[in-house]
Amino acid sequence: MTEIHRILDSHAHIGDIFHGSGNVTFKTGVVKSVYDDPFAACEKSGYAQPLIPEDPDDLIRAGKRRSEEWTLENLTAELDRQTCPVYAVMLPIWPNQTFEEYLAASKLEPRIIPFTSCALDMPIREMADKLRRDIERGAKGLKLHPTIQNTPLDDPKISAAMEVFRAADLPVVTHCGDNPYYTADSPYSRLTTPAYSAFDEVIAFCRRWPDVKIVVAHCCGYAERLFEAAQGLRNVYTDTTMCSAEKMKQAVERFGAERILFGSDVPFGSLGPSIAELKKAFAGDAVAADRVAFENMAELIGFAD
Ligand SMILES: [Zn+2]
Repeated sequence: MTEIHRILDSHAHIGDIFHGSGNVTFKTGVVKSVYDDPFAACEKSGYAQPLIPEDPDDLIRAGKRRSEEWTLENLTAELDRQTCPVYAVMLPIWPNQTFEEYLAASKLEPRIIPFTSCALDMPIREMADKLRRDIERGAKGLKLHPTIQNTPLDDPKISAAMEVFRAADLPVVTHCGDNPYYTADSPYSRLTTPAYSAFDEVIAFCRRWPDVKIVVAHCCGYAERLFEAAQGLRNVYTDTTMCSAEKMKQAVERFGAERILFGSDVPFGSLGPSIAELKKAFAGDAVAADRVAFENMAELIGFAD
């Protein structure tokens, strides 16, 4: 089996990305509790079994629990458990998280590489100025979450942010997929719009910004659909979040290792099972393994280990 000697996880979070629970990143002594967890069943199957259970609300509830228990301390322990160095691109989602929180976390845990997020309550010019300042302070890219941020990808504020990241030549990761994040009875379900993250919306966004490198998250398992839809575009990448070895391999064979980035989506995915699938996928192909595991994202953000 190919020995992977370094990993740059392109898609990770810490703290609670959802509304309502407040700041959990810096809490200590938080232990994972026992609850019904469809994420665990999926990862146990090597991400081969479908993630969404019979009652999708079970997944929403488990995601909330995983997020609430996902502290910096628990992340560090998980990074330490891996058998090779693992660095993690950390994706904040305003209004529930900020660049400042993730920058602070990166000072405490140097394996964290912080991205930033649009402060959408600011006037457009101030918001763009802040993003430029974030880059000066170490933000290596931008995370967009149209659903949780309740903002469509063609909103003028998102366009202003894209101008900043085009000028800086740094990547943008957007959520893709119109799954809900709240049960219908949650007060927050009215504050989010899954349709803003629909596949077609994301593809149209990639076409509007052909000179910005865009990671369309969560599509390695649907790589055929993604790269067919994005035909002619060289700016589109995807990540391997929640993806089996077989799907990773198929995506690389079909579209080349340059377009596929390893991602765990912790705390929703887990590092151990995700890395196991990565190793299985590229056994015997050390070049593709390092591209996907590390080099692609390293090139996008100018990172050297
Ligand atoms: Zn994510």
